[in-house]
Amino acid sequence: MTSHDEIVNAAFSWLNEHFKKGQTLFNRDELLDFSFQGKRLGLVDRQKGIHVISGSGFAISITTTNAGNYNDRFNDSGQLLYHYQGTDPNLKSNIALKNNYKKNIPLIYFRQIQSDRRYECIYPVLVVNADDLKCEVTIDLFDYGINTNAESQMETLSNVMAFEEKEPSLIDNRSYSESIRLNRNHQAFFRKRVLTAYSNKCSICKFAHPELLQAGHIIPDRDSKGVAEVYNGISLCSIHHLAFDRNFIGIDPNYDINVNKKLLDEIDGPMLQHGFKDFHHKKIFLPTEDVLKPNKAFLEKRFEEFKSAS
Ligand SMILES: [Zn+2]
Repeated sequence: MTSHDEIVNAAFSWLNEHFKKGQTLFNRDELLDFSFQGKRLGLVDRQKGIHVISGSGFAISITTTNAGNYNDRFNDSGQLLYHYQGTDPNLKSNIALKNNYKKNIPLIYFRQIQSDRRYECIYPVLVVNADDLKCEVTIDLFDYGINTNAESQMETLSNVMAFEEKEPSLIDNRSYSESIRLNRNHQAFFRKRVLTAYSNKCSICKFAHPELLQAGHIIPDRDSKGVAEVYNGISLCSIHHLAFDRNFIGIDPNYDINVNKKLLDEIDGPMLQHGFKDFHHKKIFLPTEDVLKPNKAFLEKRFEEFKSAS
């Protein structure tokens, strides 16, 4: 095993241990504290967005801060575009990022959340392209494969259908194609961040296989308020995601699950009973961090829609 493998594995294990204890957000001091073999390496840089492990020539993490000059940008495939440090491709940190690319060394993407100064972490991610002319790298999720094809197609289809069902007032001035494009962007990263906050469980039934989990939007992405922040998402299994999107299930601002009255009155087999009716008036499973819990104003707005559909 080479040294970079050992450091990367130690960094991921460090994060995994915190995740197991329910911590998914970190302040800068905690991240600076990361040590390897008795040496304090830190998982972020004190100043720069790209954190190079000194003497190693590769980056362990990239960071987006609230104060940063470059906001998160995504290409049409939903991959993150991350700007080099400055405009010189030969700066040490930029060369390090390109080393990650050449040697396929995974890294961590830290993203400062808006509400406080802590960081979400998304890992492992990979540098899948480096462009010296544009001074940027393309970043993809390492486990991107689990949510391509079937799921993304289903989500796109479901978004198209939901879009067509909406009142024009919710659509604002954005065009149809732009709305679809917006839905595709950030999807993989958004999903990963939401599932992480919910410890990879469906917030309704606690089903815990990420392969069958999706990130539902409370206020749809196409809405001007449909921000790609975790507090606008809920981790849901495929069936409960569709049920939520189609107002078979509503979640009120007290985090109580409400099952559509028509479903409650219906008599059917075990799926209806155990998959839906049993959850009526139960609480959803929530992230441990308050700032990642669903925004109550968003839930209220969304719940009005549920009530008028019931
Ligand atoms: Zn579920």
